[in-house]
Amino acid sequence: MSAPDGTMFAPAVEAMPREQMRVLQLDRLQAQLASVAQRSPFYAELWKAAGFDPLAVRSLEDFDAPFTTKELLRDSQLAAPPLGRHAAVPMVDVVRIHASSGTTGQPSYVGITHADRESWTEVVARVLYCEGMRPDDVVVHAFGLGFFVGGLPLKDATERIGATFVPIGTGASDRVVQSIRDLGATALMCTPSYATYLAEYCRDRLGMEPGELGLRKLLVGAEPGGSIPAVRKQLEADYGATVSDGMGNADVFPIYLASCPEQDGLHLCGQDELLVELVDPATGERLEWLDGVEGELVATHLRRECVPLVRFRVRDRVTVTMSPCACGRTSPRLHCAGRTDDLLFVAGVNVWPSAVQDVVAGIAPRTTGALQILLADQGPVVRPPLHLQVEYGPDEEDLDGLRGEVERALRDQLVVPARVDLVPPGALPRWEMKAKLIKRRWRASEHRSER
Ligand SMILES: [Zn+2]
Repeated sequence: MSAPDGTMFAPAVEAMPREQMRVLQLDRLQAQLASVAQRSPFYAELWKAAGFDPLAVRSLEDFDAPFTTKELLRDSQLAAPPLGRHAAVPMVDVVRIHASSGTTGQPSYVGITHADRESWTEVVARVLYCEGMRPDDVVVHAFGLGFFVGGLPLKDATERIGATFVPIGTGASDRVVQSIRDLGATALMCTPSYATYLAEYCRDRLGMEPGELGLRKLLVGAEPGGSIPAVRKQLEADYGATVSDGMGNADVFPIYLASCPEQDGLHLCGQDELLVELVDPATGERLEWLDGVEGELVATHLRRECVPLVRFRVRDRVTVTMSPCACGRTSPRLHCAGRTDDLLFVAGVNVWPSAVQDVVAGIAPRTTGALQILLADQGPVVRPPLHLQVEYGPDEEDLDGLRGEVERALRDQLVVPARVDLVPPGALPRWEMKAKLIKRRWRASEHRSER
């Protein structure tokens, strides 16, 4: 492992020539596939059924294991709780468990071993360093700390860099402001929507400009925004600080994509730990890494011990930039072009519409189970609360009580603030096949394009 060089946290990896990186990836992939086949009945069966031989992969080009999806992992977890048939290690080897947003009302659990925690910390440290964090930074952390991978993994990585970690969490703007002032904080980690909110809070509640906080760096993530030029420029102007973006998720890596000072897309920061492929979202066909190509990300862990992913469809759609970056990193840069599913982001929390449905259906017969999520703007970032219409059941009389119960259940189970309007049974559209749970009001007039 090389030492940070002032530009990169791990220059030996991050500046490794692309061909050399692919040799390293193939080597680790072969070992990982052999090991996973032994340790996980989920993968052993999936591969056998698909006719994929984990010992026969001779190049990254002929790596054609079947895809895995969020839904497959969920089923695996239901079949063998708590971590699933893909867990691949006994619980005694698991040192921590986080939750990722589930496609049902239940969270999906992600366990890590000692070695997994090491690789998380290493990759997230590269991300934060790429985003500009240095040992002399005092960093106020205003993401949720519990359960969520934007919490402890960021603490571990901040400390690995040698910066000072100040855990504040969410819902405490007074404490965020006070700690920034008292401790002379130089950096703030939060969602872009929280940074926008905090700027308003400073002006409206404290009668001060956010720039007076003296922050030099905003490290945003957990939802899209930090890479949208208009959002970034507004935040830079508000705070007089640089704004950098990071992306990841509990299933793949807490964060593995980061903007560098060049601000031209997000670098893949964990290429020695994670093989990322680009596929055509419609056909699943592998696409070449060429300038301007657009595709969906598919991720394979190269050394993960617990809950390893093999050819996992991340559902993020990106376009790629392959030309050398002035920062010296050799990894491709990704520009996020959206999602290939309906995942929503509410105050940094990932919310699957199907999980909302699961929670609402769980309150039957007081509800009919039918619902519609109303989006005032384009999404996938939703300004809280999440607004939805829910049908009450035919025999329901206590509508106020029911409204409160649905809102509470969504907050308790999905950690999402919601505003519920109750509508009579039969009022919402019915769908023969997959229900369309989201109604995008903004599309009604001039915007017609549906993915
Ligand atoms: Zn760069």
